Amino acid sequence: MSENLRELISAAKTAFEQASDLDQFKSARLSHLGDKSPIALANRELSQLAPTDRAARGQEINSVKSEIAAMAQSREEELTRERDERILIEERVDVTLPTRVSQRGGLHPLTLLRDDICDLFVGLGYEVAEGPELESEWLNFDALNIPADHPARTMQDTFFIEPLTTKLVLRTHTSPVQVRTMLDRKPPIYVICPGRTFRSDELDATHTPVFNQVEGLVIDEHITMAHLKGTLDHFATAMFGEGINTRLRPSFFPFTEPSAEVDIRCFVCRGESKECRTCKGEGWVEWGGCGMVNPKVLIACGIDINRNSGFAFGMGLERTLMFRHGITDMREIVEGDVRFTAQFGVGR
Ligand SMILES: [Zn+2]
Repeated sequence: MSENLRELISAAKTAFEQASDLDQFKSARLSHLGDKSPIALANRELSQLAPTDRAARGQEINSVKSEIAAMAQSREEELTRERDERILIEERVDVTLPTRVSQRGGLHPLTLLRDDICDLFVGLGYEVAEGPELESEWLNFDALNIPADHPARTMQDTFFIEPLTTKLVLRTHTSPVQVRTMLDRKPPIYVICPGRTFRSDELDATHTPVFNQVEGLVIDEHITMAHLKGTLDHFATAMFGEGINTRLRPSFFPFTEPSAEVDIRCFVCRGESKECRTCKGEGWVEWGGCGMVNPKVLIACGIDINRNSGFAFGMGLERTLMFRHGITDMREIVEGDVRFTAQFGVGR
């Protein structure tokens, strides 16, 4: 092999070794193996040689080129390995560092309670029925035997929709859903109706203009108040625990006859303390209203009163939630402070 070819090898070797990173190596490889490198020029000069010398010189050039290429490959592998090791150290992620805490979303405690109640009644064979929040006056009042001069219809309690000729109101209770159900289908009817309702109250510790009710309605043959009482006891125990049953107190509602207030056994003292602040020593706390569906309502809804009778009951969801969790101010439920909601196990 000629001296100048041997020099090409040692020059390339030196250049590759001196390249300390992949960028420098790339330019060294271009100088020693690229189109304008000495070895490429030597190859091009072959054509100027006499045919007899050409073959031997060509072989020499090829073997030098292969040797330089092999050196280049091994140096490139070496530099790549070094770079990878450096990255592993320089860009190391400390998995023990604290991360940014992100808040998980979740359902509002009222929604969780509503779902629990629906689950309970679906387990008893009821269906969940829902209706619009903007309701006709007829469904909200007339069909429920609430006459035009009833105090509940006055401007103080009800949000009427303008123009008044539309005869629409924001529903003041979920009872129109019961009317819709009775108009829609034939008995037997077993439905639970949860939903938002509206009354023109100021927001304070015990009132809110937007609140949630849950009502139950049963229409079937031979339904009596005993069925109502048994259902309410089961409901109360499921909500407030073993030993919490209900008592019915005579009352009046236009849509039920007879009507009763539903009280529950005081969940704080269980009727055993005269000094109890929750029940004021009564042993009972008011929970909701109930009764046998007024035959006038059944007739308005096309139910055959000679065959069928039924009961209905209704409770405030906010009140139920306050009882269950010892919440004393209703504003906490509606203000949407995540610190309040988080206590109920968000994201369940
Ligand atoms: Zn008590």
